[in-house]
Amino acid sequence: MTKTICPKCNKKRDEELFLVYHKTAGFPDTVKNCRICRNEKNRLLYSENKDILKMQNIKSRKKNINKYRKTTNIRNKKYTDDLTDGYVTQLLIKYTELKIDDIKLFPELIEAKRLLIQINREIKNQTT
Ligand SMILES: [Zn+2]
Repeated sequence: MTKTICPKCNKKRDEELFLVYHKTAGFPDTVKNCRICRNEKNRLLYSENKDILKMQNIKSRKKNINKYRKTTNIRNKKYTDDLTDGYVTQLLIKYTELKIDDIKLFPELIEAKRLLIQINREIKNQTT
């Protein structure tokens, strides 16, 4: 992999970190600063204007409430159908006394809970 030097942090980084796909209709384009520098800059901008940006978010959400609800419903339905790690972890925390650290220590808990849910769904399907 070719390496490029970022002018901001002066570190040699993989070329992949300089690519952007948005604004260019899916074609990769290179930018000056690496992704790590850009992320840092964005984080700083966000923390400086946190309140304004939060209000903007709330306003635009209120304006497009139906669109927002539709997309969140689709996203949540996908999590529920696919039984993603995040969704199963959330259920474990909600309905047991486990904490996130316990689950991180024993990731097989997620797999066990996933199997349980699948079995319960199968039983439900057969009885109805
Ligand atoms: Zn950089």
